[in-house]
Amino acid sequence: MRQNNLEHSVAISDIPATSGFPGLRNLCDMQFENSFVRELPGDPETRNVPRAVRNACYTRTDPTPVRAPQLLAWAEPVGQLLGISRPESPIGPTAEILGGNRVIPGMQPYAARYGGHQFGYWAGQLGDGRAITLGEILSPDGKRWELQLKGAGRTPYSRTADGRAVLRSSVREFLCSEAMHYLGVPTTRALSLVATGESVVRDMFYDGNPQAEMGAIVCRVAPSFVRFGNFEILAAHGELDVLKHLADYIIDQHFPELGAPSPSTYARWFEEICRRTGVLIAHWMRVGFVHGVMNTDNMSILGLTIDYGPYGWLEGFDLQWTPNTTDAQGRRYCFGNQPEIAHWNLARLATALTPLVGDRTVLEQGLAVFVDTFQNSWHAILADKLGLVSLRHEGDDILLSDLFDLLQQVETDMTIFFRALMTIPVDGAADILEDTALLEPLRRAFYTEDAFTHAQLSHLTGWLRRYIARVRLDAEAANSPEFVNVRLKQMKRANPKYVLRNYLAQQAIEALEQGDASVIMRLMEVLKYPYDEQPEHDELAGRRPEWARNKPGCSALSCSS
Ligand code: AMP
Ligand code: MG
Repeated sequence: MRQNNLEHSVAISDIPATSGFPGLRNLCDMQFENSFVRELPGDPETRNVPRAVRNACYTRTDPTPVRAPQLLAWAEPVGQLLGISRPESPIGPTAEILGGNRVIPGMQPYAARYGGHQFGYWAGQLGDGRAITLGEILSPDGKRWELQLKGAGRTPYSRTADGRAVLRSSVREFLCSEAMHYLGVPTTRALSLVATGESVVRDMFYDGNPQAEMGAIVCRVAPSFVRFGNFEILAAHGELDVLKHLADYIIDQHFPELGAPSPSTYARWFEEICRRTGVLIAHWMRVGFVHGVMNTDNMSILGLTIDYGPYGWLEGFDLQWTPNTTDAQGRRYCFGNQPEIAHWNLARLATALTPLVGDRTVLEQGLAVFVDTFQNSWHAILADKLGLVSLRHEGDDILLSDLFDLLQQVETDMTIFFRALMTIPVDGAADILEDTALLEPLRRAFYTEDAFTHAQLSHLTGWLRRYIARVRLDAEAANSPEFVNVRLKQMKRANPKYVLRNYLAQQAIEALEQGDASVIMRLMEVLKYPYDEQPEHDELAGRRPEWARNKPGCSALSCSS
């Protein structure tokens, strides 16, 4: 086994405390609630050993203490959302709670029981094998938030694994959940990143070469972490009373507008889950996010992005691209498959919920809602990305499919391409430009010079001139001096300049492993305003550098985390 940088302790001395913010309280002084534990059936057995659990939604389990918890990063906006102040020091009571070393009065930590379909097959009981919910906090605005530690030690659901998480995967979850939030994509949030001071052994490439890596714990925050799989396990075991109990609890807590439980309420609830999932996937496609492991245990019942593992961001636009090395053969979870897989996963949830409604056909309507919602949202998003009023004109379908073909013919950075499309002239100036000059604003988006070969150049500019003509149809119809500005605003909010490019996350990880937190801190700040120009950070919006093309962590990720 090779040692890997463990001697470097990560020190953050310059985390400014926020105890000065009015109304924020120390985490130690927060009041915790436990509606999940209080209202739902728990496992009567509390022995913390791997086992099959029956007739329960959770098992009460405390985190396992770690050697030296130390706060590495803190998401100030999440602290403010919850009413929690940033601690004065990276070590001390807050780091102890967030590292799992201290359970304060009022907390009733638990691991949830769930199952799931993994890569298309029923996998049986999975459950929180390394995530432990500490409890719920009522934020100053009256909302209920669950605080969950990922990497907090073994639970009855750990099977043969160690219950821990490595620093690299924890940084990735911490950064990406916040980046997604600021992009406007529904997601779980992250409050803190804590180093455990312990090593975790992982065979990152599954090649018989395990290494000791730094361990870490993320405190994740969401209204609920319940997944499709929480319902599937209950249905699979015929635990129908518990299934109804969990459904009623989730509806009461998170979908109160649907009213009292009844078969028709369950059907409308399922429709709402389908609607939210449709919106979610359209957003993923908008920003070029590939989840990587869309198993049903990684699908949130609230329609949030959940469980950041071997996810990735499209650089070159490619519908077949997957960041997950485990999925490299089948490409089940590649970029272009995400809508279809979400539909398949919803159908598994429909099967699990069928006992509540009696007749599965009642739930078919929900699946249709998913298809409609995704298609409508995706069309609206594409229109926004292109700066068009709609995509309902004759010829729009071909304009779109030709664009997708072009984007895949030469390696073209999705984020840069769409952002730069804003700067292509659409007025008369375009007509007198030579092809090369017309394409110039897009030059930065191409990974190879192939875009400028004679044939490709004429394809690209041919498409651009058709696109410009199409924009002019909208301009004529609008007949308003505001048209140009309205269109640019529309494009700007659909096309982020800054996304968490895979290599940027990797740079933040490598710096942090060497004790340098400046890279992660800069990324956190820049990714808070992904649609703003922030010209001083231009280098974070450029193409992926060539050195990152095949580098592990930058181009391909295993599930080892
Ligand atoms: P994932 O692929 O991360 O969604 O995890 C699938 C299942 O494996 C879930 O039940 C996780 O809790 C569990 N799991 C993943 N990694 C670990 C680990 N290091 N220790 C215990 N359980 C784990
Ligand atoms: Mg998971």
